[in-house]
Amino acid sequence: KGNLMAGKRGLVMGVANDRSIAWAIASACAAQGAELAFTFQGEALGKRVRPLAESIGASLVVPCDVSSDDDIDAAFAEIEKKWGKIDFLVHAIGWADKQYLRGRYVDTPRDAFLKAMDISVYSFTAVAQRAAALMKDGGSILTMTYYGAERVMPHYNVMGVAKAALEASVRYMSTDLGKDNIRVNAISAGPIMTLAANGIGDFRYILRWNQLNAPLERNVTLQDIGGSGLYFLSSLSSGVTGEVHHVDCGYHVIGMKNPDAPDI
Ligand code: NAD
Repeated sequence: KGNLMAGKRGLVMGVANDRSIAWAIASACAAQGAELAFTFQGEALGKRVRPLAESIGASLVVPCDVSSDDDIDAAFAEIEKKWGKIDFLVHAIGWADKQYLRGRYVDTPRDAFLKAMDISVYSFTAVAQRAAALMKDGGSILTMTYYGAERVMPHYNVMGVAKAALEASVRYMSTDLGKDNIRVNAISAGPIMTLAANGIGDFRYILRWNQLNAPLERNVTLQDIGGSGLYFLSSLSSGVTGEVHHVDCGYHVIGMKNPDAPDI
């Protein structure tokens, strides 16, 4: 146990269970002395998130569906009442109707497109607005993205388009908030089997392909993401903002299939 995050308070949004990326980042911050609050989407997940939050002595666990401004305002009002200010925010939330996470992107209907953009892109801007207002001594805001924003990945479809917009919003908000010493970054994580990833067509094939072709010849672990999350939320990254940082065992640098990898 270290004290890199001693005296820092942060809100973590997007824990569904102990395999969630948000939980990995929260655990890494708690181990370094951070005080945490969590939001969850709906009571079914609340039952899972509360015991996890208690296990690391969290201060607050509140419901928040990010498609509702009222929910977001209510959650941040509770945090303001409890703490008065915050130092960091983790947004690890994404959603698209899984019917459209297979087949062709070109077939995406308007309502599926808008819903994916609302929950996976706009929600980051909506929560950053409220978080920035509470970051009275500067702060760090982090979201999660995927390489499907930059290159075409099978089945990622409308989520790839949403992640491209999310990454652009990181750059714009880093510029808006920089004068207040608030940093805004994204981690572009390699594939990890989580509840959300389970909705993506052929995800096991994507995992295997990455494992065989990434320079480190393995998939990323939750600990890998937790460590990089800690870097962005702590003063270790004090000079870094507007960045989309790949934590993918190097997969994004390769140009073609590893000739030594077996066929899958
Ligand atoms: P997860 O299922 O554990 O987390 C997704 C979270 O989004 C859940 O907690 C869910 O409750 C929340 N969410 C969805 N709709 C919501 C809404 N309307 N209001 C509030 N919360 C809502 O899966 P994860 O893989 O940990 O996903 C976290 C983030 O990481 C997502 O943005 C995802 O796109 C991104 N990501 C995942 C991978 C991967 O391979 N798992 C790779 C790169 C990026």
